[in-house]
Amino acid sequence: MSTNKFCTVDSSSIHQSGLFATCDIKEETQIIQYVGEKISKEESSRRALEWEEKARKTGEGLVYIFEVDDEWDIDGREGDNPARYMNHSCDGNCEAINFDGEIWIVARKDIKKGEELVYDYGYDMEHFLDHPCLCGTDDCIGYIVREDQRKKVKKLLRGKKKKKGLKKSEKKKDKKKDKKK
Ligand SMILES: [Zn+2]
Repeated sequence: MSTNKFCTVDSSSIHQSGLFATCDIKEETQIIQYVGEKISKEESSRRALEWEEKARKTGEGLVYIFEVDDEWDIDGREGDNPARYMNHSCDGNCEAINFDGEIWIVARKDIKKGEELVYDYGYDMEHFLDHPCLCGTDDCIGYIVREDQRKKVKKLLRGKKKKKGLKKSEKKKDKKKDKKK
């Protein structure tokens, strides 16, 4: 496992393993490149579907594909790619940025030695219940969802709690109303 001067893989309180800063890192530093197999969009969709099914059975939401451009994606699941151990956080200190087809993990803020390097997985909210988040930050909404959809998910979760109190007959009425819309 070739980690570099900025980071190393270690066990994480968020999920199994994670990537950690081995020194103080300044904002905007390109910390590590996310590398993997270059695959076509077609192959990428096929793998994503396959994993989604697996993830539903095992409870793990592991997708390692990054978009490179309109034609190609990168699958970093196998091989020497320490960046794949990075966990999601609702308050990430890093982000993944595409520099002319190279995916780099970049510091969003100054990071202290020993801190876990985390970023927004950018998952769509569609199956958010399948992807619980254990990042433990003050901003955590409990699920892995990309930042611009978190408000919507928060609202949905609030609604869900209220509905728990309804009787069965009332639930049915609710469904009918929904259909008419
Ligand atoms: Zn979280």
